[in-house]
Order: sequence, then C-alpha cells, then structure tokens
Amino acid sequence: MRYCTRCLYPENHPLHLTFDNAGVCSGCRVHEEKYTLDWAARLDDLKKLADAYRSRKRSVHDCVIPVSGARDSWFIVHTVKHVLGLHPLLVTYNKHYNTRRGIRNLALLRTRLGCDILSQTVAPQTVKKITLETLRLRGSLYWHCLAGTTSFPVQVAARFRIPLVIWGAHQGLDQVGMFSHTDEVEMTRKYRKEHDLMGLEAEELAQQSAGRLTQEEVAPFAYPSDREIAASGVRGIYLGNYLPWDSKAQHEAMLDLYGYETAAQQRTFDSYNDVDCFHYSGLHDHIKFLKWGYGKATDHACREIRLKRLSREAGIRLALDHAARPPQDLPLFLDWLGMERAEFDALIDAQRDPRAWAQRNGRWELQDSVAHHADAPGVDDVRLASGGPCDFRITPNRQPDIPDDRYILVGRGWVDNETR
Ligand SMILES: [Zn+2]
Repeated sequence: MRYCTRCLYPENHPLHLTFDNAGVCSGCRVHEEKYTLDWAARLDDLKKLADAYRSRKRSVHDCVIPVSGARDSWFIVHTVKHVLGLHPLLVTYNKHYNTRRGIRNLALLRTRLGCDILSQTVAPQTVKKITLETLRLRGSLYWHCLAGTTSFPVQVAARFRIPLVIWGAHQGLDQVGMFSHTDEVEMTRKYRKEHDLMGLEAEELAQQSAGRLTQEEVAPFAYPSDREIAASGVRGIYLGNYLPWDSKAQHEAMLDLYGYETAAQQRTFDSYNDVDCFHYSGLHDHIKFLKWGYGKATDHACREIRLKRLSREAGIRLALDHAARPPQDLPLFLDWLGMERAEFDALIDAQRDPRAWAQRNGRWELQDSVAHHADAPGVDDVRLASGGPCDFRITPNRQPDIPDDRYILVGRGWVDNETR
C-alpha cells in the first residue's frame, strides 16, 4: 500500500486521501494552511458571523453546541461564550458507554461554563437492538453514538428555531484535506451519511433490518427533513475554518482554566480526547485496526507530526505500539449486548479491508504497515521540523475510591463549592 511520505496515513484511509508528486497526502497539504492563512482576519469573519445570530433577548439561545463533555467540548463552549459572546444551548446525546469520569466532566462543563443543557437518553433496549444491526451491517458498535451526536443537536435546533449549530473541527478537512479551510464548508446531510454514518442513514438501517427495527425506533437518529431545515433556517458551522485548530494546545489552555479530568487511554497516547467512553479508545479502536490495519494512535501521531511536535519516526513507534495492545473492554460490551465472542469476531472479520488483511491457514495477517515505509524515498525531502513537547497530562481522579468499571447511564456529576 501507499503511505504518505510526511505523516503515517495509508491509502486505504476510510475518508479517502490523494497523494501529490512528492508522496505527501492531501491531509498534510491542507494542514499547511494552518501556517499560511491570515487567521486574525478569519477570526474577524467568525465574529461578524456570530453578530448576525446574536439574539437581543438574553432568554433566547443564539446557537446550539453539540457536546459530550470530552473531546473539544470545553474549547468550543469557552470560545462561543467568552470570545464570541453568544448564549449557547448545549445539547448532548447520551452514548450509554459512559465512564464515571465522563459523567463528572459533563456536569463540570455545564456548571463551570454556566450553560443550559438538553440531553437525550434513548431507551437502552432500542440502543441494543440498533447496535446488533450496525454490528451485522457495518461492524460498528459506535453507529448509534455517531448518529445520535449528529442528529439530536440538529433536531433541537430545528424544533426550537435556533438557527446556528456550532461544531469544532471538520474531520474530513482536518484528517484528509477533503476541503480547504477557505471553502468554509458547513454541516450537510450528505457528509454525515457518507462518512460519519458509513453510508447508513437511520431510515435505511430500519429498512435493512428485516423487520427487527421500526422507523419509530430509529427516529431519534434521523436527520431533520429538508423542509424542516429550510423552515427553521438552521446551518451548522465549524470553528476549525476560522481558528488554526490545535487540539492539544486548546485542551491544555482549557485544563488550566477549568480543571476537568484527563486519563490514560488504552490504545492511544492522547489522554485528553475520549476519557468519557469505555470503548472509543478501546474496543471501538481495536475494530478500526481490524478493519483498516491502523488505529487511533495513527490519527493522533499524524496530527502531532503536522503540528511539528513529533518526528515521523517517533510517530511510527507510538502508532505500532498502541495498535498492538489488546482491548480490555470487550467483556463489558459483550455482557451488555448479550452476544457471544465468536459471533462478535465473525461480524468484525467480515468487515476487514482486503487491502490491509488477508487470511492464510485460518489466521488473519496484516498485509502492510507504515513500519515498512519508515525509510521510503522522499521522506527527508518533505520532513517538517519537529521537537515541540508532545507530552499529554494526566490529572488526578476526583473520586478515586469509587470503581469506574461499568457503564453509568445517568449519574451524579461533580459539583464544587463555586457552583453548588
Ligand atoms: Zn500525510
């Protein structure tokens, strides 16, 4: 397989990459814009856009922000509230795989940043039925999280006539350079279906389930109709088009300001992004590796290489080391879903990309790896400077005496004296 000469991405990246004559991928080339665009002017554009949506009544929300309490939630809410001066309504889809730390962080987010929040918890029986189907059709235990996270905030915006939804970075732009920052790409039904949902809309999931799921059951995961979107005037923008996105630096600024909890992750060195979920950096990432031949640590290493904090060689070591780690959370998931290990393995094996994996004598073998392309011709010609600190902080657990070993569907958060 072909690998980028600058970062670690292979040609079978599911969001699709192209390579130029120097062997550099489209994601790396678009990323160079972070060093060349006039970001002060872009921030002014964002402020003007925000002014157009500002409500004169403080009782009315100006915009919707989808949050989980992890990932870039803190930076987005902080920026919208304190840089743009808007009055946001936070909206969260309950992903069911919550850690206690995630519940605490989400509670801390809404209290420290003083925001109203609306959350949606779909019945666990329905979520399990949907997860069975998406494992069968796509080998995914995360479809309901991705669908819920991308539908519920837009449903709320349309229903309450709040015309602006504000997201963080656009993954297709940031990872693979699908668009330029100057395209100012916005939220679309098409991108959501093709990339976030692996080509499977909620309505199609019900149709393909052989009667096991009804349209009513998948309704919470459906995007509003074009008529509803047009009637409410809802649009969704990405802050990453207006600010030079640097997840690590942004997280560290927010940690200093608000003091939320980070934690070591099973299969990546980034301790900031996904501490709210048992599976995202565990079993879900292991499935990514079994499908595509690389895991989340590759995404994080590519990001750090492009931001000049990590050499390509150090990135390869981190990516390989983490991809080989067996996930510890498989029994927790199988017990919740009521599935046997053998059935689970067969469903995932059916989704392996033949460019990455082949079966010999009953064993799956990886066909290629970035390890074989460490000294590829042209690597030195396109190398970025590296050497910034690439350490990720791990903060103390606020409730060290309570075990964090099962899903918390709805739980008490952390409310400190300032916000009680
Ligand atoms: Zn690249």
